[in-house]
Amino acid sequence: MTTTQTEQFTVRRSSTDHASAGILPLPPTGHFINGSFVPGSSNQVIDVVDPSTEQVIASVQAGTAVDVDAAVEAAVVAQKSWGATTPKERADVLNLIANIIEENRQAFELIESANTGKPQAVAEDDVTSTIDTFRFMAGASRTLTSMAGGDYATDHTSVILREPVGVVGVITPWNYPLLMAAWKIAPILAAGNSIVLKPSEQTPLSTLKLAELLAGRIPDGILNVVTGQGRTVGQRISEHPSIALVALTGSVVSGQAVAETAAKSVKRVHLELGGKAPVVVFPDADLRAAAAGVRNAGFWNAGQDCGAACRVLVHESVAEEFTEHLVREVGTLVVGAPEAGDDVEIGPMISRPHFERVKEALAEARTAGLHIAIGGSALEGPGYFIEPTVISNVPAGAHIATHEIFGPVVTVETFSTTEEAVTRANESPYGLSASVWTKDSSLSLRIPKQLDFGTVWVNAHLVLACEVPWGGFKGSGYGRDLSLYALDDYSRTKHVMINHGA
Ligand code: NAD
Repeated sequence: MTTTQTEQFTVRRSSTDHASAGILPLPPTGHFINGSFVPGSSNQVIDVVDPSTEQVIASVQAGTAVDVDAAVEAAVVAQKSWGATTPKERADVLNLIANIIEENRQAFELIESANTGKPQAVAEDDVTSTIDTFRFMAGASRTLTSMAGGDYATDHTSVILREPVGVVGVITPWNYPLLMAAWKIAPILAAGNSIVLKPSEQTPLSTLKLAELLAGRIPDGILNVVTGQGRTVGQRISEHPSIALVALTGSVVSGQAVAETAAKSVKRVHLELGGKAPVVVFPDADLRAAAAGVRNAGFWNAGQDCGAACRVLVHESVAEEFTEHLVREVGTLVVGAPEAGDDVEIGPMISRPHFERVKEALAEARTAGLHIAIGGSALEGPGYFIEPTVISNVPAGAHIATHEIFGPVVTVETFSTTEEAVTRANESPYGLSASVWTKDSSLSLRIPKQLDFGTVWVNAHLVLACEVPWGGFKGSGYGRDLSLYALDDYSRTKHVMINHGA
C-alpha cells in the first residue's frame, strides 16, 4: 500500500463573503401560498448555512402539515382555471418566467453560491440551464397532440384527450436547488397542473427568490412553496389525498419513503434518485480526452452530482497511463469559496453531516489499504472542503466504488475483457448514467445497448440538453425529467368514445 500525501490543495478564500458584505438579495422567508408570502403555522425555523463559511445566512419556516394543506387548497382552486388555458397561454407564462429569471440572473447566482458554496461558473451554468428549461418547455408544450380520432368499433368514434393530472407535489434536493426545481416546475405547469413544492431544507433560498419575483406576475396559486423538513412537509405532500402525483429528486431512501406513503392514496410517483456513474475506458480510447472528461464531469459541483463520472473502469493495459493523465488533470483543480475568483472549480460539501460522511468514506478507503493517488483528506476550515481525490487500483466490489459518495472522489478499477467491463459496470444498484470511451465505432454502438443506465454517453460525460430525457433505471428511480417525455409523465390520457350510429 502506498499513500501519497499531496498537501497540494488549499482553500482559496476571499476577504469578504457576499453574506457578511450585506449584498445578498435574500428573499422573504415565509411560505409562498396563493401568490403571497405567509407566516408558518408553527414558530419554528430552520437555519440556512453557507457551507463555505459555516455562517447562518437566513432562517426559514419549519413548515407543518397544516401549511401543506393550505398550499394544496390554493393549488386545487388555481388548477381549475390554469388547466383550462390553451398551450399558447401557458407557454406565454413559461416564457415570462424565463425572462424574469434572466433579468435577475445575478441575484440567483449570488444566492445559489452563498447557499451551496458552489463556484461562480457552476452557479452561472445552473441559471443558464434553468432559463433554457423554461424556454424549451414553453415551446415543447405547444407541439403536443393527441392521437387523431378514429373509428375502432363500428359506429363509434374515439378521441384521445391529453389532460393535466391535477395538483403535483414536488420535493427537490440541495445540489442544484434552482435547476432541479425548474426541471419540475416547467413541464408540470406546461402540462396544465398546479404545484406545491418543498425545496431542500438546506437550500430553500433560490426557490423562495423565484416565488418572490413571480408573485403577482403569474396566476396566484399555480406555484406554491412550503419550506421545511422531509419528514413533515415532504411526508404530508406524499400522503395528501388531493395531490395526484408526487415528484421527488433526492436520495434512494427518500424516494422509497415517498413511494411507500404515496401508495396509500394510489398516487402517481416520479423519482429521480441517486447514481454512481461508471466511466468505461477501452484500450483504444483517447486517454487524455477521457482523463479531461473525468476532471470535468467527476468534479463538477465538487462531485455532488447524481451523474458524476465517479467510477472509472479502465482496461488494465492502459490503466497506469490513464491514471497518470487523470492525476495530472485533477492536480490543476482550484478549490475555494465562490467569491475567491471565477477560476475556482471546487466548492465545499453542502453540510457538516455530509462532510463527515465523505471523510468517513475516505478513511474507510485508507483502512482498506486502497491507493490514494491524489488528495484524500479534508481541508482546513471554516467550510466543508474536501481535496479533489483519485483512488486507484480499486478492487472489484470495493465499498467506495459501489456506494454513492457524492463528493470530489473518483475511483479507478481495471478490467481485462469487454464482457467483464460490461458486467462490472452493470453490477450496481444504480442505473442513472454511464459513459464509454473508445474510438471503435462498433464498440460505441454495441456497449451502450448492453449498459443498464438511463443515459449513456460515448466519448463524453454529463452533457445534457433539454430536448433529451434524463432519468434512471433500477435504484435510480423512474420517470423522466426534460424532453417531451417529462410532459408525458405530468399529463394523463383520456379516451372519449362517441356512438354515432342509429
Ligand atoms: P435527500 O433525499 O436527502 O433530500 C431530497 C429531498 O427529499 C429534500 O427536500 C428532503 O427534505 C426530502 N425528503 C427527505 N426525506 C423525506 C421523506 N421521508 N419524505 C418526503 N421527502 C423527504 O437528498 P439530497 O441529499 O437533498 O440530494 C442528494 C441526492 O439526490 C443524491 O442521492 C443524488 O444522487 C440525488 N439527485 C438525483 C438527481 C437525478 O436527477 N436523478 C439529481 C440531483 C440529485
